[in-house]
Amino acid sequence: MPYIAAIDQGTTSTRVVITTTEGRVVSQAQFEHGQIMPRQGWVEHDPMEIWRNTRRAIAEALAQKDITEGDIAALGITNQRETAVVWDRETGKPVYNAIVWQDTRTNHDGDPARHMRTTGLLHNSYPAGPKWAWILDNVEGARERAERGELLAGTIDTWLMWNLTGGAREPERAVHLTDVTNASRTLLMDLNTLDWDEALCDEIGVPRVMLPEIRASIGEFARVRPRGPFAGVPITGVLGDQQAALFGQGCLAEGEAKMTYGTGLFMLLNTGGAVQLSEHGLLSTVAYQRAGQAPVYALEGSVAVGGSLIQWLRDQLGILRTAAESESLARQVDDSAGVVIVPAFSGLFAPRWRSDARGIITGLTRFADRRHIARAALEATCLQTLEVVRAMEQDAGVAIDELRVDGGMTDNDLLMQMQADILGARVVRPGNIETTVMGAASAAGIGASVIDAPLTLGESTSWNNEIAGPVRDRLVSAWKDAVGRSYGLG
Ligand code: ADP
Repeated sequence: MPYIAAIDQGTTSTRVVITTTEGRVVSQAQFEHGQIMPRQGWVEHDPMEIWRNTRRAIAEALAQKDITEGDIAALGITNQRETAVVWDRETGKPVYNAIVWQDTRTNHDGDPARHMRTTGLLHNSYPAGPKWAWILDNVEGARERAERGELLAGTIDTWLMWNLTGGAREPERAVHLTDVTNASRTLLMDLNTLDWDEALCDEIGVPRVMLPEIRASIGEFARVRPRGPFAGVPITGVLGDQQAALFGQGCLAEGEAKMTYGTGLFMLLNTGGAVQLSEHGLLSTVAYQRAGQAPVYALEGSVAVGGSLIQWLRDQLGILRTAAESESLARQVDDSAGVVIVPAFSGLFAPRWRSDARGIITGLTRFADRRHIARAALEATCLQTLEVVRAMEQDAGVAIDELRVDGGMTDNDLLMQMQADILGARVVRPGNIETTVMGAASAAGIGASVIDAPLTLGESTSWNNEIAGPVRDRLVSAWKDAVGRSYGLG
């Protein structure tokens, strides 16, 4: 029986999973890597450490179950998006650390409306293109070397594929490729042509010669080099992490959406074959593309503070011992007694984009205690989600009647019920919430024709709305009132 393997190269760790074609995970290994923070707002990773961890995780996952490369029919890769690496094509050595997506050192000028029309992206510090340009401008001699064709640029998918297929040992064999979803996060790719936009490359300062070739996400990329880890296995699926979660959740039809509740909240809505440009603070991106087919697009909205509000209650206020206690405490009361938390710790992201907002707690009375505050924190998560969902519905002209969910916070059953209530929609949590890595494995399996639909994620649980409209309206209006008060504080 063939297996499918997937690498999930995330912000804090690198994981390798080996699954059956039925979606049963038989082996996995994971290693964390260091977070390098040279200055406030700067976040870097050591690309060599990431590659070493990838090799170790592959070796360990294989050893755990006595599986050999010959048993593996396909390899998928999913990765932290927008993290940028520049390396020497001869030696394989990075010329600078990877600049991580969270890093705020770059910003770009130019016309935001034109950039949005061409790339679907908003003006902020996330895209990879300006990060590559920063490296070329700040490492001595790098720009000249890049122009001479001596340096290569890549997001983490590209870096891993280059190392898997050749790397420093056989650089002449190494492929320099990326997929459309990763390329769509660089500010250099035209969302309609799915190719690098020469004018943007010039404007941002990234020589075209150092950029990888853009491929469909699902289909053959290359084979791993014969002597490397996963020797000879074909790489047949590559997706950025949020797109992998969307694919893993099986959101393959227009109007299907997933929300990931982690440290932050990330929502993607499949908008089908047409780019929908947002008028409500969302960005447009490629959801996935199968080789030889037209791309599928998505709208994306991210909320800065999700599970990190629970961490704040636990670590800064000390009113929870564990994240899970947010559920048991909040269950002890019927409502938040009028308490509203607006967790605008670093401003508000989608759909409001208010950098001047700061966190507030409103509606406190002598009666309120930590149970009400825990409940208000869960409500804040649901209400922020509601705002992103409504923005998506308006932009895409669809009604979202079901939201598929994943991420660490979805362990909280009360949160799930509250979300269904506040949305007035169905919330569905799969049995296996590791949707990102399963999405990459699914893409690879489909790309290698060993499966024809995303892997199953076990038995799902769902929640339906249980509250009346006026109750919801009161919650929403108290929230809007509080959000208004959070403006201008930053
Ligand atoms: P990330 O991938 O962003 O690191 P995870 O998906 O692992 O995040 O989710 C971790 C987040 O979920 C943490 O911020 C944690 O506070 C929160 N969390 C975990 N369990 C619960 C729970 N039972 N209730 C509420 N929040 C939770």
